[in-house]
Amino acid sequence: MELIEKTAAELRSLMLQGEVNAVQITEAYLQAIRAREPKVQAFLHVDESDAMAQASAIDQKRKHGWQLGPLAGIPVAIKDVLCTKGQVTTCGSKMLQNFIPPYDAHVITRLREADAVLIGKTNMDEFAMGSSTENSAFKTTRNPWDLERIPGGSSGGSAAAVAACEAPLSLGSDTGGSIRQPASLCGIVGMKPTYGRVSRFGLIAFASSLDQIGPFSHDVTDCALLLEVIAGHDRRDSTSVYRPVPPYSKTVHTPVKPLTIGLPREFFDEGLDPEVNACVQEALKVYRSLGATIKDVSLPYSRYAVPVYYIVATAEASSNLARYDGVHYGFRAPDFDSMIHMYSRSRGLGFGKEVKRRIMLGTYALSSGYYDAYYLKALKVRRLIKEDFDRAFAECDVVMGPTSPTPAFRIGEKAENPLAMYLSDIYTISCNLAGIAGISIPCGFTKAGLPVGLQILAGPFEEEKLLRVARMYEAQTDWHLRRPRL
Ligand code: GLN
Repeated sequence: MELIEKTAAELRSLMLQGEVNAVQITEAYLQAIRAREPKVQAFLHVDESDAMAQASAIDQKRKHGWQLGPLAGIPVAIKDVLCTKGQVTTCGSKMLQNFIPPYDAHVITRLREADAVLIGKTNMDEFAMGSSTENSAFKTTRNPWDLERIPGGSSGGSAAAVAACEAPLSLGSDTGGSIRQPASLCGIVGMKPTYGRVSRFGLIAFASSLDQIGPFSHDVTDCALLLEVIAGHDRRDSTSVYRPVPPYSKTVHTPVKPLTIGLPREFFDEGLDPEVNACVQEALKVYRSLGATIKDVSLPYSRYAVPVYYIVATAEASSNLARYDGVHYGFRAPDFDSMIHMYSRSRGLGFGKEVKRRIMLGTYALSSGYYDAYYLKALKVRRLIKEDFDRAFAECDVVMGPTSPTPAFRIGEKAENPLAMYLSDIYTISCNLAGIAGISIPCGFTKAGLPVGLQILAGPFEEEKLLRVARMYEAQTDWHLRRPRL
């Protein structure tokens, strides 16, 4: 197996045994990026000399006998929604095309402390709004399993980078499915931790009551490793919770026994592709063979998840995005004849179509006279969606179903139909509304060779259990070992 096809845990043990050094690992991935990027287009910026400098600094540390961090010499790709000090951070938008943050996001600081190598910034839907990465202001990322198809979104670049072996690990953000859906469509592991598990300091805000940062990896062990590095309290994000971080990477191999799995009937309705359903059913058989009890449960309010999300998320986005006014930072229109004209032209030219649609929807939902009918009502239904999960988790350890209703669709197929695009996240959104933890793991391929993902959800702060349950299945299967031919 080539170096770039290995997992972070494998690279780490090669590092510890002195078989490879950080410079060699980084060199191998930079070479893969050079060779594969013309096809995949996962990255927006790669600074080769900066990556090599980080790698040689780590090798120097080792030479001097200093203790190395848990991700020593491991390249990590970063969704361009996370601020990196001194490096352009665009959020996939023309609005921030030249924005150079003066600070690092908390998770970036954690990665640096863990001796990881930050290898580049990845493509995304503008302001993380989308499910295909086609809303990026810069380029369209391709699915490494079929270059005519989308990688999912909005963290499509981060998912494609790992699937294409351009980095063994990456970070994304998930507001309504943006880590789990692309992970599923690209045949890798992606996790949305519980709201509050990971600090969002330095994450460019989309919908603050839903946004969460999480890992992408080839397998569950690596997911545990990366989550352990980024999780934990940070006083700069008041929603990050003061709660110890379990040693995920140590416990991940211990199966959960006895295990009760809840199957929500709402996750298996008409819109579900039969091949996706077949893969999920096979995965359930594996759990059954491991002694799990499978129970039918109901999440009756989940049918309102998409409409509730598109009120709550757009309302919050309309407020968060008010800061891009051409004055403080970001894009300013070159010519204008008054201050108001400067605001409106800067926003008009700086934001793309989908972002403007969301700002308008959200502004409408919050406007006087409609606030009660839309926004307040949505908050009430959100509560009911959360209570559905509370009931389910009172009788089951985890809830399972498909991550995405279909495998990866063709580039352009849904680009002009926002509603069809919004439905890509029908199974992922309720997890964000409820604030719970969710993971997508590879569970098979369609006849056309497209990956399918299994979604597993667990109650708040039950990431440890979630990872152990995911790993039980992974240990019995080999989907996570496949790599696309590129
Ligand atoms: N696809 C959803 C949206 O467009 C979710 C995006 C996300 O999780 N960032 O809003």
